[in-house]
Amino acid sequence: MHLLYLDDAGSAANRNEEYLVLGGVSVFEAQSSFFTQELDKLAESIHPSAPHEVEFHASEIFARRSPPWDRMSKAEAQGVIKGVLRILARGYDSARAFACAVHKASFPGVDPLELAFEDLCSRFDRYLARLRAAGDRQRGLIILDESAHETTLQRMAREFRTLGTKWGVVRNLAETPLFVNSGVSRVLQIADHVAYAVFRRYNAGDTQYFDLIASKFDAAGGVVHGLVHKQRAELNCMCPACLSRRVLDSKQDRGVLPDAAPEESQGASSVEG
Ligand SMILES: [Zn+2]
Repeated sequence: MHLLYLDDAGSAANRNEEYLVLGGVSVFEAQSSFFTQELDKLAESIHPSAPHEVEFHASEIFARRSPPWDRMSKAEAQGVIKGVLRILARGYDSARAFACAVHKASFPGVDPLELAFEDLCSRFDRYLARLRAAGDRQRGLIILDESAHETTLQRMAREFRTLGTKWGVVRNLAETPLFVNSGVSRVLQIADHVAYAVFRRYNAGDTQYFDLIASKFDAAGGVVHGLVHKQRAELNCMCPACLSRRVLDSKQDRGVLPDAAPEESQGASSVEG
């Protein structure tokens, strides 16, 4: 089974933030132990006597307000976040990153978390369909941090069977997402870092974290399917997500590619409306 671990960064309500990001990583079930061991080793280097007390939450590490991060310099703390992302970057090739960055002001009256969750469910479903077409008949399960915005995500998870049918994503996905305590799941902690890296990229223009994992986003045929920038503010956005879709669109316009490539025919356009 393929497991998509998701966590959020930024909040729907915070007016000081332009973006909300839902993101994470898809791993094959047998690969989870590799990532757990690698993060355990990193935790051991930080707190040798009690590595299991070290929980990697990128925003907390970045803020340096709570132990053990409060003892670190800014550069040391940022080095820890990068260390977590590098574990993903050098891990299994088949472990793929997924993220949806929602420019909140572009979608007034819409819950950005709901928008991102629907988008990622259909992206993950299409990813599994592509693997299935190549002979990998594994199903997928979505795993969410139980503390992540309980109301919206938990409601959507409860109604997942109905929503999944509406979104057309029930074929390859298990019928209910699972909520797990991120304190006991190292892979969810990696998902937290993916969401944070994408959040810093879009919300603060800080690419140093994102760049470490940019090549891990699910991609096929030159299009970065695993990353989407949902916005209506900038038609010519040069981010990898928008750029790769414009390249695809122009190839289709010039007849180099047939219209409606299967992955992009289901409302995956980055600039909508
Ligand atoms: Zn963009």
